[in-house]
Amino acid sequence: MVQAQNQTSESILNSHRPLSKTFILGKFEYQTDASFVKVAPELSNKTIYLQQEVYSAFLNMQAAALKDSVQFIIVSGTRNFEEQKGIWERKWKANDNLSPVDRAKKILEYSSMPGTSRHHWGTDMDLNNLSNSYFESGEGLKLYNWLLEHANSFGFYQVYTSKTNGRTGYNEEKWHWSYLPLASKYLAFYNKHISESDIQNFKGSNLATELRMIPDFVNGISFRSKNFK
Ligand SMILES: [Zn+2]
Repeated sequence: MVQAQNQTSESILNSHRPLSKTFILGKFEYQTDASFVKVAPELSNKTIYLQQEVYSAFLNMQAAALKDSVQFIIVSGTRNFEEQKGIWERKWKANDNLSPVDRAKKILEYSSMPGTSRHHWGTDMDLNNLSNSYFESGEGLKLYNWLLEHANSFGFYQVYTSKTNGRTGYNEEKWHWSYLPLASKYLAFYNKHISESDIQNFKGSNLATELRMIPDFVNGISFRSKNFK
């Protein structure tokens, strides 16, 4: 917490992770990467890393929220390809009663194929609780309303919104917030340099093209905000 706050804005600007295909696919070790920092234990429920600039913006948002008695806990931050592969293949195994396509579709309700997750980038985080119902009453609703009102001014957006407006890809995730000043650049890089042939080396990866991973999932985002409900 203190570490990121004490940095000058210049050093934060210089700390951007250089873009490369391996980075954007999550094939790197964020724990030893100079652009990544560990989230303070009191703001997370386990060991979590984010990019420095993202964490710095989060700390500013967190301080503002605290004044309104809203307390964030980060429950997931950066995950690399290997970690996402672990999640994916565990769910792949758990759904072995389904055909390969249905199996993948079931997992894709909420989880990404390795190599296609915004969590690879260190720009995206899951807050407080991984169920939409939590954010629909009581403390969760208060927190969600605070985010809708204020998060954009700190750079954070809910990108997996309701699908009723035609958005494709993952179901709504009221807990997943993305730091767009960096993530929008990363998405542009992804679209320029990555094709479905780069999404491989895990069970079911041969379905990436058929299931439209890049057009419908990587690009299946919209920007839920105060002005866009
Ligand atoms: Zn998430």
